[in-house]
Amino acid sequence: MKIVSTRNPETSVSFRDAIFQGLAPDGGLYVAEGELDLRKEFLKMDKKTSFQDIARLVAGQFLEAEVGKDGVDRIVKAAFPFSPKLTELKDGIKILELYHGPSCAFKDFGASFLASTMEEYLRGSSEKAVILTATSGDTGSAVAQAFHGKKNIDVVILYPSGRVSPLQEKQLTTLGGNVHALEVQGSFDDCQRMVKEAFQDPDLSRSIPLTSANSISLGRLLPQSLYYIWAFAQLKDQLAEDLVFCVPSGNFGNLTAGVYAWKWGLPVNSFLAATNRNDVVPQYLDSGIFQVRPSVLTPSNAMDVGNPSNFERLEYIFQKNWSLMRAMIQGDRVDDEQTLKTMKDVWESDKMDICPHTAVGVEAARRLLKQNPDLGTLVVLSTAHPAKFLEVAEKAVGHKPALPPEMQQLLNKEKVSLVIPPQKSALAEFLKKNFAK
Ligand SMILES: *Cc1c(COP(=O)(O)O)cnc(C)c1O
Repeated sequence: MKIVSTRNPETSVSFRDAIFQGLAPDGGLYVAEGELDLRKEFLKMDKKTSFQDIARLVAGQFLEAEVGKDGVDRIVKAAFPFSPKLTELKDGIKILELYHGPSCAFKDFGASFLASTMEEYLRGSSEKAVILTATSGDTGSAVAQAFHGKKNIDVVILYPSGRVSPLQEKQLTTLGGNVHALEVQGSFDDCQRMVKEAFQDPDLSRSIPLTSANSISLGRLLPQSLYYIWAFAQLKDQLAEDLVFCVPSGNFGNLTAGVYAWKWGLPVNSFLAATNRNDVVPQYLDSGIFQVRPSVLTPSNAMDVGNPSNFERLEYIFQKNWSLMRAMIQGDRVDDEQTLKTMKDVWESDKMDICPHTAVGVEAARRLLKQNPDLGTLVVLSTAHPAKFLEVAEKAVGHKPALPPEMQQLLNKEKVSLVIPPQKSALAEFLKKNFAK
């Protein structure tokens, strides 16, 4: 497999460069290029195939040449002490629960793999890395948990003071050690701007080994393919008709990772891209016109994206061909009221709490099933633990979902953060003081 930029398919880079750079120097996104055919391997899989087995197989294709078999083993063991679970609703829709990792959301899979891979690359060397990232809440906690305790790596997380939920704040600020939480007296946009300015500052990048861990990293995207393969292996002996994955989407990383699994030979018939009112991709699939616009606030706020970053990767895969993309991906959008109603419906029918993002997926899946009752197997990705969105759940269902024990314990831990003004100079000062060579 070659790693190339979406904007320059001629020049390939190592996996190592791709993950430490994050974004390609030409502004494009790194993508996997070339034929990878895993059909034979998929045929051999079944219910007993573990998530780690699948991870070793796929990660090996990308990493073995650079870190060896033992390196791949170490990465997989360190990255995935958790795995997905598969459940089913009464109406037959399968729910792929991706929230059993440390921050209770699917982003744990990507962040944890990236962290373990970076640690492996830095193993036994004197090189260090400082991960710099801004968060509006959710992504930051996955990154913080994933990098916590990793050797030779520090993490600096900027978050907007007073604008993340109390639980999210605890997830960011109670780890300590190599995880540093900067509480910015400003908005999320300020945090993002400060991070961007720091990366562009030649003085800083000379003296500090800054790197990013944001969601456009190929190192976060690839491991998300693994759970599509795992779900297939689990369901294989009962698959007769089509296999369709419904993916609640914002930046479209999750969906793109599923499309990769299909490209490698996973027998997926189609994907259903479910969005909230931020529906630029479903609109594109309807009309052929891709029109970005400012995002609007919805109850499924991790999907409030007006300019989905992974669309560039999808276009690359489908050669900018609308019909090709439409042949594989259909879109649907779910409004706020329907989202809340679906949370309530699923509680009433199945006594199951689902998060608002998952609800968007379940509603889109139900509509599809209504149109086409003989569809086959429909799997909805459940992207976060319902207890992460207590306020929405209380409004929609009338009760608060129970917190998993790890999250319960968090609430009693002490917050440690450094409050800084929303200026790059404040960030630069912190970075130099702590990490300058
Ligand atoms: C990030 C996120 C999404 C959207 O995933 P994308 O890969 O950006 O499409 C959906 N649900 C939750 C809970 C998330 O955190």
